[in-house]
Amino acid sequence: MKFDHILIRFGEISTKGRNRRLFVERLKRNIQNVLTDYPELTYHGTRDRLYITLNETDHEGVVKNIADVFGIQSYSLAMKCRSELDEIKKSALQAVQGLYKSGDSFKVTTKRADKQFPLDTNELNYEIGSYVLINTEDLSVDVKNPTINLRVEVRKEATYLTCYDYKGAGGLPVGMSGKAMLLLSGGIDSPVAGFLSLKRGLEIEAIHFFSPPYTSERAKQKVIDLCKELISYGGKMKLHIVPFTTIQEQIQKQVPENYTMTSTRRMMLKIADQIRENKQALALITGESLGQVASQTLESMVAINEVTNTPILRPLITMDKTDIITISKDIGTHDISIRPFEDCCTIFTPASPKTRPKLEKVARFESFIDFDELIKTAVQETETITIEYERKKREFEDLL
Ligand code: ATP
Ligand code: MG
Repeated sequence: MKFDHILIRFGEISTKGRNRRLFVERLKRNIQNVLTDYPELTYHGTRDRLYITLNETDHEGVVKNIADVFGIQSYSLAMKCRSELDEIKKSALQAVQGLYKSGDSFKVTTKRADKQFPLDTNELNYEIGSYVLINTEDLSVDVKNPTINLRVEVRKEATYLTCYDYKGAGGLPVGMSGKAMLLLSGGIDSPVAGFLSLKRGLEIEAIHFFSPPYTSERAKQKVIDLCKELISYGGKMKLHIVPFTTIQEQIQKQVPENYTMTSTRRMMLKIADQIRENKQALALITGESLGQVASQTLESMVAINEVTNTPILRPLITMDKTDIITISKDIGTHDISIRPFEDCCTIFTPASPKTRPKLEKVARFESFIDFDELIKTAVQETETITIEYERKKREFEDLL
């Protein structure tokens, strides 16, 4: 069978009109970004479908590369013909002939988007099915559990015939939901939070707090590698590396030990919020999960969150660690996250951090230092790296 198209079905688009157009446009752009190696492809978007015309390109690479693009519900190799019964029948036969083995069964499922088409779906199923049956050997019809489900979409402009369905990555096209800043440590959780945010259509920039010489270059490299994994789901990405040593040292000096963690988090949030404002993003994202560690009790969150009104998205808040680990393995960040280099929080973690910090107390401890000045310097000295898309290796067979 010679496939000449890939037909892409969208995920949910609850919004209509202009937003729908933006969705299709954005998805098309994101798909084009992962298919730059195939300049001969052409694209055509409609209200509810996107078509890639292969123009003689081998479909394997294309199919592989779009597997991780968010906003795609499913996609299929397709054959296009004119919406005329004879043409449809011939194409159907050609599609099945290239595919079936002796003893296989098939069924035809027709969708008639063009309501003016002279035959209804039952008549079309019958006409196409019997034509295929007469012209093949050792092939039977099975409407319940067929080996081959030949789907026929009759539209006004053309008819598309498909046999395979690949599962898409789901979610919304990256960029559809605006931009947010991801607080990215070297741990297991925050990369997963980033992945889930991308999946929900957010464009993200990452912020990492770095405390040399307490943390090494290799800890920084770990975060860069995590970003590289994440961008296989979302195009290029910026990583802001904030020098955090001075602030951490001041906290150690001035704040009682069991409150250092609360203060550290507050400073991180303040800095992240300023970078967010400079970059015109609308929210912050963290990898927090309720009750996982001392800083993630509700009382801690109240004390930490107090420094900003900016929405903080916590995609993992109700998830169990085991489920988070499963996702991190699936998306390829786990092995990087478990590399043994300490991040700035691990090194400065007090023996017994407060699980129920009092807001008034932490505010008073902090009032003895001019943190605003230190924060300003940290923001100014932040280093920004742009991480480019590198194609994710994925086996074709995984998709089938
Ligand atoms: P993770 O696995 O993401 O490191 P965690 O379970 O270790 O999370 P914490 O260390 O309490 O939890 O961190 C909570 C969140 O704070 C992280 O998920 C991340 O969003 C942010 N965070 C912690 N450390 C850093 C850092 N060095 N740079 C940027 N963000 C950080
Ligand atoms: Mg951590």
